[in-house]
Amino acid sequence: MKCKECNKEAWVVGRHRNLVEWRLLNKGDGYGRRNYNGGWKKDTEKIISKQYLRCNGCGYKFNSDDYKGIAEIKIDSKGITIVSDGFSKFE
Ligand SMILES: [Zn+2]
Repeated sequence: MKCKECNKEAWVVGRHRNLVEWRLLNKGDGYGRRNYNGGWKKDTEKIISKQYLRCNGCGYKFNSDDYKGIAEIKIDSKGITIVSDGFSKFE
């Protein structure tokens, strides 16, 4: 199965994460500048999207409407399953 946009076969599974980080400030009183004290620290990290199939060649996000014969792509922890629509062969 080749990408409809760039014609390469470079499929990967993607997901999005939301990372919250913080960094300390030096203590001080009143107005004026306070510099950072140390680097960024990780607070929380959450996965914020369903996994999806993406072309690593061009960034196209797979949509079964663009591919004849494919009903859906199922993504699990071991890999993907390309599910036929039962009517036609995919190209
Ligand atoms: Zn592509």
